[in-house]
Amino acid sequence: MNKSDSERIAGMLENLGCKKASSECEADLVVLNTCVVRQSAEDRVYGKLKNLEKLKKPNPKLKVAVTGCMASLYPEKIKDKADLIFSIEELPKLSHLLKSIKYPNPESDYLHIQPSYDSNFHAYVPIMTGCNNFCSYCVVPYARGKERSRPAEEIIKEVTDLVNRGYKAITLVGQNVNSYGHDLGKEINFAQLLKKANNISGDFWIWFITSHPKDMSDELINTIAECEKVCPYVHLPVQSGNNAILKAMNRGYTQEHYIDLVEKIRKKIPNVALSTDIIVGFPGETKKQFQDTAGLFKKIKFDMAYIAQYSPRSKTQAYKLKDNVSLCEKKKREKILTDILKRTALEHNKKLVEKIVEVLVEKSKDNFEIGKTKGSKTVKFQSNKNLLGQIVKIKITQAMAWGLEGKYVK
Ligand code: SAH
Ligand code: SF4
Repeated sequence: MNKSDSERIAGMLENLGCKKASSECEADLVVLNTCVVRQSAEDRVYGKLKNLEKLKKPNPKLKVAVTGCMASLYPEKIKDKADLIFSIEELPKLSHLLKSIKYPNPESDYLHIQPSYDSNFHAYVPIMTGCNNFCSYCVVPYARGKERSRPAEEIIKEVTDLVNRGYKAITLVGQNVNSYGHDLGKEINFAQLLKKANNISGDFWIWFITSHPKDMSDELINTIAECEKVCPYVHLPVQSGNNAILKAMNRGYTQEHYIDLVEKIRKKIPNVALSTDIIVGFPGETKKQFQDTAGLFKKIKFDMAYIAQYSPRSKTQAYKLKDNVSLCEKKKREKILTDILKRTALEHNKKLVEKIVEVLVEKSKDNFEIGKTKGSKTVKFQSNKNLLGQIVKIKITQAMAWGLEGKYVK
């Protein structure tokens, strides 16, 4: 979502006549788009601001603007370190804020701003922003506000334009993509939106992140299975495998519900790749409760997972609870899960050896290229053809836990 927002910030600046600088040292304006989902992300903002401060010596014209969740949530923490602080919702007013050019556009919705896409073959398209779930540990609902879905016509137009310009992959993004449309009455839901995107003519792939287990309907699972352009990849954050912790997290489902869901998904969508997010060391999480998470993790056998140590965030409900799992214990729990993941990811990847898979080439180096499968697995292969942005056929020769190697076929 932040990556997609950054493309809109760049688009806005280009509209205002700015040009992309080759590096921060060359820039007259740096806009930091920030994340504060964990303390480590917040700390990176302070580090970055310090470095930018140093650049002001050789370049006194340099202005530093900060947007994103830090700007919405904790502006007081950076008020002396930035020249301008604005929430992402204020992006349409940027020229006003920069006071350099007359405000040209009465547009009030930042999602209407034409982005300047980073890539010319894979685009991130926001379909909704905000979140109504208030998981007890999470700052996103405070930073981004209430859920707000973009009208379907607007999304479909953006995707159609991209496909007509030759884009090969579209990732639909939102904090909670599968609650898409809840705020639009009974007009449309996420499954129906996916069908509309699938009906756009052209040869392209559709990915979507992130889905919430409590909103994963049968209709949606069937739609993913039926739509040929929708990739068989589901990122479904479980966060914990213990029901008491899931309740304290306010996640709205149980371990049993999650396991049933995964069974259904695997039955309906053959070859699906499944990834998840987990938090270890939530306040009060006992060793026994963590064992439930480790057990679930072993049982489900994820293809990939993003494992985070709990980080207290002010304003959230969990902030009132004592962060009583020690750092050392959190690290230990993270390592246990990482070790399980290494085994399960490798097991899944090994099934692809000797198979020919389609790969979207995302990086091209001197004599090798790196891309992604439909299941979002990284594939490296030798080639000096510069196939950047193309979908090619690769025969997989070797599987590792975090990726695959293969040979170019076509
Ligand atoms: N909407 C998505 C997640 C968005 S935040 C969902 O519901 O799953 C991305 C991930 O950051 C979360 O899945 C969670 O694992 C992690 N995260 C959020 N708040 C956190 C916190 N306070 N401490 C540690 N990890 C956190
Ligand atoms: Fe945060 Fe929960 Fe909303 Fe995801 S669903 S953004 S974890 S509050």
